Amino acid sequence: VMSVHWMRLNYSGRILMENLLTSPFFPVLFSLSVYLSCCLPYLCLDMLCSRIALVRRFKIQPQSQVTWPEARSCLRNIFHNHACFIFPLSLLHWFWKPLVCPKMAPDTLSVVVDVLACLLLFDMQYFFWHLLHHNVPWLYCFFHKEHHYYTAPFTLTTQNTGVWELLSLSFFTTLNPALLDCHPLTEMLFFVANIFLSVEAHSGYDFPWSPHRLVPFGLYGGARHHDLHHRQFRVNYAPYFTHWDRLYGSLQEENMKIKK
Ligand SMILES: [Zn+2]
Ligand SMILES: [Zn+2]
Repeated sequence: VMSVHWMRLNYSGRILMENLLTSPFFPVLFSLSVYLSCCLPYLCLDMLCSRIALVRRFKIQPQSQVTWPEARSCLRNIFHNHACFIFPLSLLHWFWKPLVCPKMAPDTLSVVVDVLACLLLFDMQYFFWHLLHHNVPWLYCFFHKEHHYYTAPFTLTTQNTGVWELLSLSFFTTLNPALLDCHPLTEMLFFVANIFLSVEAHSGYDFPWSPHRLVPFGLYGGARHHDLHHRQFRVNYAPYFTHWDRLYGSLQEENMKIKK
């Protein structure tokens, strides 16, 4: 009796999960909740920063302080962009290409390879998009300037962009798993990894466990590199890895250790 009951529960759980995943509201809610959950721990640190010296020690720009009005204005922009642009577009995408859940989960190796390939592709696409939008003055003014409003980035500035930038980024994020014909689960994992890494790059913190310290040979830029981009504009265009900036000659390492 117990096992029949359990199977029924399992079955209804699966149906519920499928209904949730295939709902037209899922993409926008997923996107917002992943983004805000990635930001939340860093926001807590930002609140503690002025009181606890230990937290301040890991800040890349220790003199900068996140204020409530700044956080509120970023949040307003993010909700506005999601409601007015991401939601209608995700509805169109849902209508045009409904999610089909395959019976089999992908194997671990193909998940890792595909997520990495999607990240490398995204890194390249954003590098060229970014380079173009810094080198053509009117493109910078109309489309990228908004993201550069803060010279000391904090997590909520990650998606504090104009509509065109957010849509371009969403387009690349949607395109890559489709190009590589990824499993929906892989696609979701890439999405989460992409949001987490972009939030980390804007966090303003450099911890001993930050990705750029874990990836060997200086292959990964992360928070330190992107923080420098927000201060110096014409360096470190790639969002994650360093190879494109190295090739183009725009790689700038942080040479001065922040003085106390
Ligand atoms: Zn940025
Ligand atoms: Zn920029």
